[in-house]
Amino acid sequence: MATPHALQTSPSGHPIPEDKFDLFQYAEMLRFGDLHFHLDPATQLQAVVAIHNTRLGPAFGGCRCVPYASTQDAIQDAMRLAQGMSYKNAMARLPYGGGKAVLIQPPAIKDREPYFEAFGQFVENLGGRYITAVDSGTSVADMDYAARRTLHVLCTSRHRGGSGDPSPYTALGVRLGIQAAVAYKFKRSDLEGLHVTIQGAGHVGYHLAKELHARGARLSICDINEKAVQRCGDEFNAQVVPPEAVYDLPCQVFAPCALGGVINDHTLPRLQASIIAGAANNQLLESRHGKILQEQGILYAPDYVINAGGAIRAVIEEETELKAKIENIYPTLMEIFQRAGNSHQATSEIADHMAEEILYGPPGEPTILTK
Ligand code: NAD
Repeated sequence: MATPHALQTSPSGHPIPEDKFDLFQYAEMLRFGDLHFHLDPATQLQAVVAIHNTRLGPAFGGCRCVPYASTQDAIQDAMRLAQGMSYKNAMARLPYGGGKAVLIQPPAIKDREPYFEAFGQFVENLGGRYITAVDSGTSVADMDYAARRTLHVLCTSRHRGGSGDPSPYTALGVRLGIQAAVAYKFKRSDLEGLHVTIQGAGHVGYHLAKELHARGARLSICDINEKAVQRCGDEFNAQVVPPEAVYDLPCQVFAPCALGGVINDHTLPRLQASIIAGAANNQLLESRHGKILQEQGILYAPDYVINAGGAIRAVIEEETELKAKIENIYPTLMEIFQRAGNSHQATSEIADHMAEEILYGPPGEPTILTK
């Protein structure tokens, strides 16, 4: 499909239009979908829900609540993340489409209860086309507040019968993905002594450090939050490194678990790792950075494949099915690595093609979701 902007976009890369932002052109480029806005002056709620694709089922994706420099940034983020959720849910064979909520965080949320109740009402008004959950800047408690106004919310607290914090399951999937990458790249099945650098000691970073430490990996970790990073240093004998030094650290695996866009023109020449495999969404700043990684001989585990564990946990309750779906991250990544190796394409390109086959396969052809 021809893109109206000079830079190509995909879930594997931030779309950065070079010309003036045009919402409808941008929506067409991402193959949207619809957008919904809600303003609640009483609670200062400014919310965007982006519904990218509902071919496989209702749109499902988390609710992000962070500050944005502009409304346009927030809309673009919601759209880009919703598209990524379509690809993530498709690759995980979940019967859901892709959506995302973005709340433009006010300087201070006076009271989270009415704020997230108002958000819950917004979700309810969408009639089930969008299902929300926890994401950056929101918590299980926030989802409990939203659940007072809507049934279309996941990751509520365990005592309410919800699935709770998805992070340990995301970390489990990332650990399995690292094992797949290590098996493919280094032809070994264990992680003993493997040096992994984790960027971000937050919800996922902490649990990933735990998973890797238990398997004998040697850890380096950074965070702008000194308390969070020191906890990992103390509990998992991880070497604490300054946030800016993380790109220059010689190691075997770099696991971005903090921010999007960390693989870019500035960081690529500095990276010392052989594998990039972490939880952060939209790790590639632009799609072309996936190709550069391939040319540099760095194996990249596409973010929306490796970080699907939390989404899987949010929608699947039954233990055997949950385990099987999360464990499937390993063979899915292995297939991507092998296809990329055989065709000399970037792993990000292969993953996008595979997801698009599921999402946009010929109309009328049933999509197999049970694998
Ligand atoms: P989190 O907010 O708990 O943790 C992120 C951590 O990154 C924080 O501790 C923060 O201080 C740190 N950080 C911020 N800027 C940094 C910088 N410049 N250098 C180093 N550290 C920095 O978030 P999380 O839930 O752990 O998620 C981490 C990433 O994984 C996010 O990109 C998120 O979208 C993605 N993700 C999370 C889940 C999940 O289950 N939580 C699922 C899929 C994807």
